[in-house]
Amino acid sequence: MKPAIPRSVQISMRQFVAELQLKRVLDRWPIDPTSGKKPDGWPGWPEGKSFALVLTHDVDTATGQENCIKLKDLEQRLGFRSSFNFVPERYDVSAEIFEDLMENGFEIGVHGLNHDGKLYNSRRIFLERAAKINHYLKEWGAVGFRSPSMHHNLEWLHELNIEYDSSTFDTDPFEPYSDGTNTIFPFWVNGPSGQKYLEIPYTLPQDFCLFILLKHKTIDLWKEKLAWVACNGGAVVLNVHPDYLAFHNCPRKAEFYPSSFYSDFLKHLIECYRGQYWMALPKDLTKYLRSTF
Ligand SMILES: [Zn+2]
Repeated sequence: MKPAIPRSVQISMRQFVAELQLKRVLDRWPIDPTSGKKPDGWPGWPEGKSFALVLTHDVDTATGQENCIKLKDLEQRLGFRSSFNFVPERYDVSAEIFEDLMENGFEIGVHGLNHDGKLYNSRRIFLERAAKINHYLKEWGAVGFRSPSMHHNLEWLHELNIEYDSSTFDTDPFEPYSDGTNTIFPFWVNGPSGQKYLEIPYTLPQDFCLFILLKHKTIDLWKEKLAWVACNGGAVVLNVHPDYLAFHNCPRKAEFYPSSFYSDFLKHLIECYRGQYWMALPKDLTKYLRSTF
């Protein structure tokens, strides 16, 4: 067996690589200027709103799960709702947390099966796991999926009983599967037998990338990208991990950032964009586009 590299060393190595990468990708990250074009037949957003806002969370670990209710409360206090994607076979998912989230109008989704990076290793592995993922989708009453580490194979995802997937991004050269969709609009992925699911690319940089890998100490880059997506009428889709959020105290470890970054972002939305955005759970955004697009 290979000796495990300590998490702190792994992060330092990834920070070093990300910094080198940064110089080469600034022409297409955080904004890829080609991704703002509206698709043909685009219906616009409900209630005449100029852009959509979709808040999502991937709960990668048991530690992340422990922070879910604090994160839910933070959003709820400010009037926001979001979806939480849980990993079915990595930690014991909590029935109480599910109940609390659903009672309060939040959404539950499925985040891979066990988050080991092997979901797409072969067609056989994928099919075996797809059967289990379908079981959890049904048990949880979930209609949405996101792959761990944003690995993706949009064709294979037709094996899942989903209404939408959100494992892609308009532009994110720091991801292991770095091919972006080049659009800030959701789009349909048609299957061989007439079925289709909605692909919802995330469009703001992920928290881990921004605050841990690139060590940003402000949310300026989130604000900048938000302004660009809003101006182009797209979907602002954000993925914040409860695993990396430090509530109340100053984060001491390199892999945490203050939860005030996220609450400041939500307050910025209220202060500068009130009335302009359609806040939607991904399942509701999918329902809307199924009837209009
Ligand atoms: Zn994850």
